[in-house]
Amino acid sequence: MNLLMPRPSTFDFQLGLIGFPLGHSLSPKIHAAALTASGSRGDYSLFPIHPDDQQGLADLLARVRRSEIHGLNVTIPHKQNVIPLLDKLTPTAQAIGAVNTIYLQDNKLIGHNTDAPGFLADLRQFLGNRKPSIVNRKSALVLGAGGSARAVVYSLLADGWTVTLAARRIEQAHALASAISNDQLSRSIPVGLTTLFSNLQLSQFDLLVNATPLGMTPNTEGSPLPESTTMPTTLMIYDLVYNPRETKLVRDARAFGCSATTGLGMLIEQAALAFEIWTSSPADRAAMRKAVE
Ligand code: NAP
Repeated sequence: MNLLMPRPSTFDFQLGLIGFPLGHSLSPKIHAAALTASGSRGDYSLFPIHPDDQQGLADLLARVRRSEIHGLNVTIPHKQNVIPLLDKLTPTAQAIGAVNTIYLQDNKLIGHNTDAPGFLADLRQFLGNRKPSIVNRKSALVLGAGGSARAVVYSLLADGWTVTLAARRIEQAHALASAISNDQLSRSIPVGLTTLFSNLQLSQFDLLVNATPLGMTPNTEGSPLPESTTMPTTLMIYDLVYNPRETKLVRDARAFGCSATTGLGMLIEQAALAFEIWTSSPADRAAMRKAVE
């Protein structure tokens, strides 16, 4: 999707990431690799903006308006905070209610969400070599109801999955369901609720997606599933957590003989989609992945 005008090859792309904190972000390495591979010049900077610093956020977006910055990614805690400061949302960002990619088009600040198509592209790759019988029923269980769960649920519903949502806070799960409720897709969401993820009937599902931070560095021995959980071999596991490279959930799933993956592929894919919007150049996904493996 080339949304911007082609630029001369000497153009200096100023790109970056807004969030807080940002110390461990892999995005600068990923985007530096994409810039190099496409033969483009530029920088990808980190812009740590405190959750309470609305003025800092507004000042940074003003730099995009002035074309001093050509593209921004947005992460926690600003994926929703930026929305009132933008002129327009793409239909995907509108439906999800969160923005992870910002750019200027026709003098308008546009908010987009590449987490959703990034997740779906990587999920399809993950499922690509599975037997069709395994994915025929397409019944998914999503753990967590935060920002990334919204993108995941939206994508799964759009791809024809039946989705069950499990979250520790009932109000958050309902908020997610109703955020997508203006869409005809919402009728497919039965919101299953549990506080401990311990009473889940995993054999009912073909796919389990972890959209909680459980298992993420530094708490690498954490998992959203209790220690005693038995995973049926037919269950596929997609863990959005990508740091460490093999999470405990993925390790346990593989020990039960399940197919399992972390979210590194989604991270690369969402970055690649944003890069292509900002630069109008194809993103070299292999180079981007190599930069962080
Ligand atoms: P978020 O908006 O903070 O949502 C996290 C969700 O997990 C919330 O529902 C939260 O519930 C729940 N949760 C947190 N701790 C829990 C616990 N101990 N027990 C049960 N539920 C718990 O975060 P997010 O943006 O969705 O990110 C979630 C994870 O996905 C992070 O690890 C992030 O790095 C990863 N992620 C990966 C990609 C990728 O490209 N691979 C993209 C986005 C996110 P409460 O609100 O009650 O705390």
